Amino acid sequence: MIHETAIVHAPERIGKDTRIWQYVVILPGASIGSDCNICSHCFIENQVTIGNSVTIKSGVQLWDGITLEDEVFVGPNVSFTNDLYPRSKQPLEEWTQTHLQKGASVGANSTLLAGITIGQYALIGAGSVVTHDIPPHTLWYGNPARQRGYVTTDGTVLNHSLINPKNGDAYEWQEGTLVLCSSTAVQSVAFLDLQAINARYRPALDKAVARVLDSGWYVLGDAVADFEADFAQYCHTQHAIGVANGLDALKLILEGYLQLGRLQRGDAVIVPANTFIATVLAVTQTGLVPVLIEPDEASFNLGPDGVRAALTPAVKAIIAVHLYGQAAPMDALKALAKEQDLLLIEDAAQAHGAHVGTCRVGAWGDAAAFSFYPGKNLGAFGDGGAITTNDNALASITRALRNYGSEKKYHNQYSGLNSRLDALQAALLQVKLQHLDRDNHHRRAVAMRYSNGINNPYLQLPQWSPQKMDHVFHLYVVRCQHRDDLQAYLQDKGIQTVVHYPIPPHQQGAYPELHELSLPLTEQLHQEVLSLPISPILAEAEVDYVIQMMNAYEPV
Ligand SMILES: *Cc1c(COP(=O)(O)O)cnc(C)c1O
Repeated sequence: MIHETAIVHAPERIGKDTRIWQYVVILPGASIGSDCNICSHCFIENQVTIGNSVTIKSGVQLWDGITLEDEVFVGPNVSFTNDLYPRSKQPLEEWTQTHLQKGASVGANSTLLAGITIGQYALIGAGSVVTHDIPPHTLWYGNPARQRGYVTTDGTVLNHSLINPKNGDAYEWQEGTLVLCSSTAVQSVAFLDLQAINARYRPALDKAVARVLDSGWYVLGDAVADFEADFAQYCHTQHAIGVANGLDALKLILEGYLQLGRLQRGDAVIVPANTFIATVLAVTQTGLVPVLIEPDEASFNLGPDGVRAALTPAVKAIIAVHLYGQAAPMDALKALAKEQDLLLIEDAAQAHGAHVGTCRVGAWGDAAAFSFYPGKNLGAFGDGGAITTNDNALASITRALRNYGSEKKYHNQYSGLNSRLDALQAALLQVKLQHLDRDNHHRRAVAMRYSNGINNPYLQLPQWSPQKMDHVFHLYVVRCQHRDDLQAYLQDKGIQTVVHYPIPPHQQGAYPELHELSLPLTEQLHQEVLSLPISPILAEAEVDYVIQMMNAYEPV
């Protein structure tokens, strides 16, 4: 095919099935192979030789002395030259030869200096300036181009150690080409590598530490106030109050409402039966009575029907836990709390950054508790926690209660706690908060890969909808009737997993008075749940290894 606007002086020197597009000019001496694609506005001089299956994108001028072997790709507006010292009036005595060997690719807008050779299957990144010969199967880019890795015949990019960073495949040289030698580089997957997660932010964290050390102020102070402002803004709330940990955040909220007269000791509080024990401890330790209810099986979270069925005149509050990072159905729970005049409190210790609609968790209830335990989605370097709320009265009273019940130093209005967020933790959290959305995004991508890849009839995967932003995958929890066997099998394959949680609160030694309760779904879940590795840094190769092993699992 030769477009009618192209000027081709010797069409008989063009191979079969080659396409020549608009406004291409080809001088009589040029020779072009078959199955090529020469895009618009290319100019090809006499002494140019082009092999088969070559693609030349728009706007490329090929000067005398240039050879492109089979399967070469030349991106748009790549600049060639054939004269080291060009002058318009001096005729050239001899062309400098430029040679692109078989399969070489040159990205858009690159400039190749005169007289160089690009080796077989080498890859030059867009916008590079290439100043010397390029060895076969190597990856180069930049100005001047520098070697950044290697490329296989099929275009797979490898690092300097001949490893494919996407899946861990290892390659080696055999007779001038790169061959796959091992595709099982991943042999173990950690559940959560906190050291590596935090190492990503090391320079900024170091600066934050230095700032606090040099400030001479180590409890509350500006560092805490600054973080509180950022965290409130992030959660779309008026207030954030930094405290010592997540358990205290819950207790301080309840104690605040007790002091404000919104709750009385002995009131009942609805709590999901399958939560982490802290939720229940906060209730009993403030003199309130927990009403444990079964979760909705699909989401592991409280559902409005279950809550409604458990209502009695004694119930004055609901604590919704966003378990495993998935937001509870806050719109329905909020409507129910409003209708029944109940306080609605969020335990958001596992769900920093999750959305329900356009509103983040932490902003839905009367108040919310967050934990910054190191393994949480926003994790400190020790203990930490926060309360978020739009309730001015609760904000003032919890600010006092976390600090010995005092609003003014040595004037103690209430019987408070010492539960303050350290300045050091606040400064470090402020650094990590800036990356929380990106970290959560990676967690969701890992979850999506698991959910698309795992296909084993012995397993039940978490139910969630990727379009909603209501799950931040603190944990990726599967169910299996042979859970302990599955966990031992994965351990054997080098895959670390954790059970969240092995014993429900009502069966714990801390609560002999609750042992009588029968909560069959909760008890069954505790027998079946298993948390797979998930983190902001888990690599695709690691996820794929877990998927492969999960799919190969069969109970004994
Ligand atoms: C972690 C956690 C807490 C407690 O937080 P700490 O900072 O460890 O005291 C409370 N509730 C839930 C659901 C949690 O996961």
